[in-house]
Amino acid sequence: MEQRRWTLNDFDIGKPLGKGKFGQVYLVREKSSNHIVALKVLFKSQLQHSEVVHQLRREVEIQSHLRHPNILRLYGYFYDQKRVYLILEYALKGELYKELQKCKYFSERRAATYLASLARALIYCHGKHVIHRDIKPENILIGAQGELKIADFGWSVHAFNRRRTMCGTLDYLPPEMVENVEHDASVDIWSLGVMCYEFLYGVPPFDAKEHSETYRKIVRVDLKFPPKPIVSSTAKDLIRQMLVKDSSQRLPLHKLLEHPWIVQNAEPSGVYRG
Ligand code: AMP
Repeated sequence: MEQRRWTLNDFDIGKPLGKGKFGQVYLVREKSSNHIVALKVLFKSQLQHSEVVHQLRREVEIQSHLRHPNILRLYGYFYDQKRVYLILEYALKGELYKELQKCKYFSERRAATYLASLARALIYCHGKHVIHRDIKPENILIGAQGELKIADFGWSVHAFNRRRTMCGTLDYLPPEMVENVEHDASVDIWSLGVMCYEFLYGVPPFDAKEHSETYRKIVRVDLKFPPKPIVSSTAKDLIRQMLVKDSSQRLPLHKLLEHPWIVQNAEPSGVYRG
C-alpha cells in the first residue's frame, strides 16, 4: 500500500468487521493491488460532537509512522463531506479481550509470549518517544499468525511528562495517572503489568465494583494474588516488579525480556500458536 491520495472508489467493500463508538469497520480490498485491509469509517458529526477530532489527528499522525510486527499498521486516511476513513492493517483473528473472555485466562506459555511481544512493541514506541498510555486487552488485535497487534493510539502522546484528565476505565492506569501528576513512558510498564495479571487470572488486579474502590486500590498498590488459578511464583515476581508505585523503580522493558519467567515461557518465535 503505497502513499497516495485515496478515495472510496479505490476499494471493494466486504463484510463488516465490527462496530466502534464512532463508526464501523469493514473488510475491504484495494482494487489496484488486491491488498486486503480494514477500512474504519468514522462520522465527522460524531467526532465533532464528542470533541475527539484532536485525538484522532494525533492517533493518525503517530500510528502512521510506526512500523513494527506487533503494532497495527495505519496505511493512510482520506475523507469526504460526512466521513473520515482510516486504512488499517487487517487483523484476521480479531480482538484479544474476546479471546481472553473465551479462555477465561491464558496459560503461562501463552501469557509470557504475548507479554514479550507487547514489551518489544513498546520498546520500539518508547524509542520513538511515543507513549501509548492506554494498553489494555480491548486495544489489542490478533493477526493471522496469532501475533498481537497494538491498535488504538487515541490516547498516545509524542512527548514526555504529560498531564491529562482521563475518562473511561481506571483499571489499567498507574497511580501517577489516576492522581493526575506528571508521568512518562513508565506508565506503559504499569499497564503491561496489569495485563500480565489479567492474562493469568482473568481479571485485572484492582478490579472493584465501585470506581472509587479501584482508585483506592491503585494508589495503594493493593495487589493480591488469588489461590486459583495456580500461577508460578516467577510470574508473580515479574508482576510485582512492574506494579511499583514509584514509576522510576518499575522493571525496564528490556529487563522484562530477560526475566526468568519470560525466558522460560515465551515462545522464541514471538508467536503463540496454541
Ligand atoms: P473500533 O472502532 O476500533 O473499536 O473497531 C470496532 C471493531 O471492529 C473492533 O472491536 C474489532 O472487532 C473490529 N476491528 C477494528 N479494526 C480492525 C482491524 N484492523 N482488523 C480486524 N478487525 C478490526
